[in-house]
Amino acid sequence: MPVSTKLYDLLEISPDATDADIKKAYRRLAVKYHPDKNPGNAEAGEKFKEIAKAYEVLSDSEKRARYDQFGEDAVNGSSQGGGFGGGNPFDIFNQFFGGGGGGFESFFGGGRRDPNAPEDGNDLRYNLEIDFMDAVRGKTRTIEFMRMDNCTECHGSGCAPGSSKVTCRRCGGSGQVGVSQGFFTMMHECPVCHGAGQMVEKPCPKCNGAGQKKVRRKVEVNIPPGVDTGTRMRVTGEGEPGLRGGVNGDLYVVLHVRDSEFFQREGDDIHCEVPIAFHVAALGGQVEVPTVHGPVTVDVAPGTQTGDTKVVSGKGMPSLRRRGSFGSHHIRFFVEVPKKLTVEQKTLLEKYAETFKNSQQAGAQPVQENFFRRIGQFMQKMMGMFF
Ligand SMILES: [Zn+2]
Ligand SMILES: [Zn+2]
Repeated sequence: MPVSTKLYDLLEISPDATDADIKKAYRRLAVKYHPDKNPGNAEAGEKFKEIAKAYEVLSDSEKRARYDQFGEDAVNGSSQGGGFGGGNPFDIFNQFFGGGGGGFESFFGGGRRDPNAPEDGNDLRYNLEIDFMDAVRGKTRTIEFMRMDNCTECHGSGCAPGSSKVTCRRCGGSGQVGVSQGFFTMMHECPVCHGAGQMVEKPCPKCNGAGQKKVRRKVEVNIPPGVDTGTRMRVTGEGEPGLRGGVNGDLYVVLHVRDSEFFQREGDDIHCEVPIAFHVAALGGQVEVPTVHGPVTVDVAPGTQTGDTKVVSGKGMPSLRRRGSFGSHHIRFFVEVPKKLTVEQKTLLEKYAETFKNSQQAGAQPVQENFFRRIGQFMQKMMGMFF
């Protein structure tokens, strides 16, 4: 048993772990606590350093034996000779994961990139609200927005005409500056050149050396028929400009379709409630109903009830995916009982009511008949319970 198990505990392994166990544990924990995966988390950074230290000692059979026998002091500090001296935790990490920035970068999918490589511009998003009928018919809209663009004077370099960039004086061109932290010198991105290693000496008078300026853009967008809320349209190259020869980002126009007063949309189908007079509902007839393609006349069957539906195919939304194809138009009837009657109408209805006294036709009002039959049975049962 070693005098201390601290380094083993750090790697979450037992003191009799094999070399393979140690490697496996380090691989898992180093990735978990790497500062690039935990931005702004000092605790993770500390842990990352400790894991690197534990791995450095335990992966070296000579150091591991000394640690097991004498504890941490035997492997701490460079004064011990061959102890825990040279270990920059990032070097240990990079060596482990295939060496150099390249391996590191590919491991995290490009966390740190060459600051002088071409960089593609960011995509932009523009939220566009349109009318319901514009979504039906399609429309061309001009949108205006501000975005960055490369300076026309210096073409993005930021240097005054005739001048060019010089080696950064703060970092000497490495793009990084060292900051001492205990045993380690932590490398940080140079605050002057932001890692590029070069700086503008004579700034371009038009953009003050920034290389880019905000510009107002006007772009025409063709909205096809059938779009819906959430539909994204890409306008190629209208995003933020690329840097150092990178391509421009794209502009994404994201649509929000305003609700219609009359039509509710469900995919490519449209739903619409249509009020009908109660005599039309009873006798049957024809009504004109609105659709997004204009009015359409439909038959109303005799005895139509509120909630009854009718489908008119091909009169819904145009399909965005299948050109020339349309959804259906769904009608839901609402039977309206008159709120006012003329004297004549009242007389006629009273006559109509008279007919119910002697000759009620079975099945004339099935809902009502069924209701009273069932409620009658229910009341009888209920009375039986009390008396
Ligand atoms: Zn400029
Ligand atoms: Zn610099």
